[in-house]
Amino acid sequence: MIDSHIHSDTRPYEDFENMAMYLDCAITLAHDPLKPYSMDVIRAHFDRIIYNEIERANKNGLKLFVCLGIHPRMIPPDVNYNMLREYLKRGIKYNKKNINKNEKYIVGVGEIGLEKCTREEIEVFEEQLIIAQELNLPAVVHTPRRNKKETTKTILEVINSLGLHKDTEKHMIIEHCTKETVPMIYDTNMNMGLTVQPSKLTPMDAVKIVKEYGGERFLLNSDSSSAPSNILGVPKTVLKMKINGVDSNIIKMISHNNAKNIFRLDV
Ligand SMILES: [Zn+2]
Repeated sequence: MIDSHIHSDTRPYEDFENMAMYLDCAITLAHDPLKPYSMDVIRAHFDRIIYNEIERANKNGLKLFVCLGIHPRMIPPDVNYNMLREYLKRGIKYNKKNINKNEKYIVGVGEIGLEKCTREEIEVFEEQLIIAQELNLPAVVHTPRRNKKETTKTILEVINSLGLHKDTEKHMIIEHCTKETVPMIYDTNMNMGLTVQPSKLTPMDAVKIVKEYGGERFLLNSDSSSAPSNILGVPKTVLKMKINGVDSNIIKMISHNNAKNIFRLDV
């Protein structure tokens, strides 16, 4: 099983051991843990993920991969994209160098997206989508709790307006989907993240969506963060799916294979 979206830097040491008992790996994403006074805060956040988190998780047996990006709630006044590009390029270089050891850490750009749909947010989102395409990396796109339907619509319009390659869209994940937003994304080439978390989907909500739409292009995650979370959201949902008669191939797809293929993981 793969938890395709967590924020490991918000979780205590002990959580990793519990996750490691069920998961083959997890993907931790940059988010908004601090007030973004300047790009230096973003740099410190990226460094913490790369230099602390991977090791902290590994020590407890949890394999961790990383996505880096500027979250819509973390845009500093001096935003620039060179630093993000440098971190991503360095990660890609490391991945290539260690390809024989099956060792990589950077697997995507994220999480990016829109929260309030301001002009600034849209510009930062567009720039990062272009970087994801340029570096051939998957992009993980946040959708907010408030105005989810309208904002998801705007997100899809922004993506469309950029005229990205089909392959870029196939490696894009629209996160925190609900039964209201799945129909909007289902007709595109993009993937849909189902987040099982107390304020988002319950395991049964995820079961219902998968029963209706099947497993293709869906990924399960817990978005474990400083908000109320269920670090075992993915294994618990898999259990509910088994109990409720979801086909084992579909379960395998949404809890492992889709994430493995999109993020090109060797797990
Ligand atoms: Zn998140």
